[in-house]
Amino acid sequence: MANRKKHIVILATGGTIAGVGEPGKNTGYVSGQISAEDLVKSVPELSDYAEITTEQICNVNSDDITDKLWIKLSNRITELQEDESVDGIVVTHGTDTMDETAYFISLTVKCEKAVIVTGSMKPATAKNPDGPENLLGAVRAAAGFAVDDDPPANLVWVYFAGELFDARNVQKCSASAINAMGVNAPGEGSNWNALKEQNFFDVSKFESLPRVNVVYFTVDANPKILEYAACVSDGLVIAGAGSGEFSLAWAKVLENIDIPVVIASRTHHGLVTLNKSLAPGRICAGRLAPQKAAVLLKLVLTQTSRTDDIKRVFAL
Ligand code: ASP
Repeated sequence: MANRKKHIVILATGGTIAGVGEPGKNTGYVSGQISAEDLVKSVPELSDYAEITTEQICNVNSDDITDKLWIKLSNRITELQEDESVDGIVVTHGTDTMDETAYFISLTVKCEKAVIVTGSMKPATAKNPDGPENLLGAVRAAAGFAVDDDPPANLVWVYFAGELFDARNVQKCSASAINAMGVNAPGEGSNWNALKEQNFFDVSKFESLPRVNVVYFTVDANPKILEYAACVSDGLVIAGAGSGEFSLAWAKVLENIDIPVVIASRTHHGLVTLNKSLAPGRICAGRLAPQKAAVLLKLVLTQTSRTDDIKRVFAL
């Protein structure tokens, strides 16, 4: 019997890849305009690699993605993981928060089939849009036509500008480059086995998630922003300078904050080691960038608010 074509489901959420502006222009467009169906029609080569079906989860700028949309997306991907007629899933998404969404999916879906997240830096109406290439690469990866040196299928990946990045380490590293995606530790590669062992959180029964905010430290930053952030949050991430550091004035205010606080680095690269005199007893983000630490903290807080338990999850 001839091999049947792989069945890939594209879940579209919007972003620049579905953006529309003045024909030929790269900027000044509106994200999330083109439907999933029309996106696919614009890349006829997709049918060389897979049978495609599309679903529109939402059609927004990725800065308007919410916890509710994350839960909806994660639940749908879980259903597709269990659907025997489906071989892989591609999510189209704006690049601004693509790294957070990919990480969220990786922490909330038990993957047996590849989930590949992709998007573009130029709108569909640009002169040479990068969306079609990225969508084609993502579908090829989801269908098992490996683009890298054989990454495991049962993980969540971002495919962008010819490269695959694992969901835990990927970050948007450039506001304008066509290859805008990178990783926390360039050159170190991904430890795929370690990625498989990461935490899992079942969000299928939730309608909302705990409130976690990131506070960014700068020279002489008013410590009151820390106080205020704590009042409107269930957990906080501090994007500190260097190895997650901040002023003595911030450290003093932090002493009286009694919600879980994770210390990360605004450098977005390298390993944070907690400065115990500035942030005694607080949780260390390790290699997670602040926005990734916020995703993990949000999910851990669905299970516990005990700092020692949260520290164990962050240490994994
Ligand atoms: N603002 C857009 C978004 O994240 C940027 C992009 O997709 O490249 O939806």
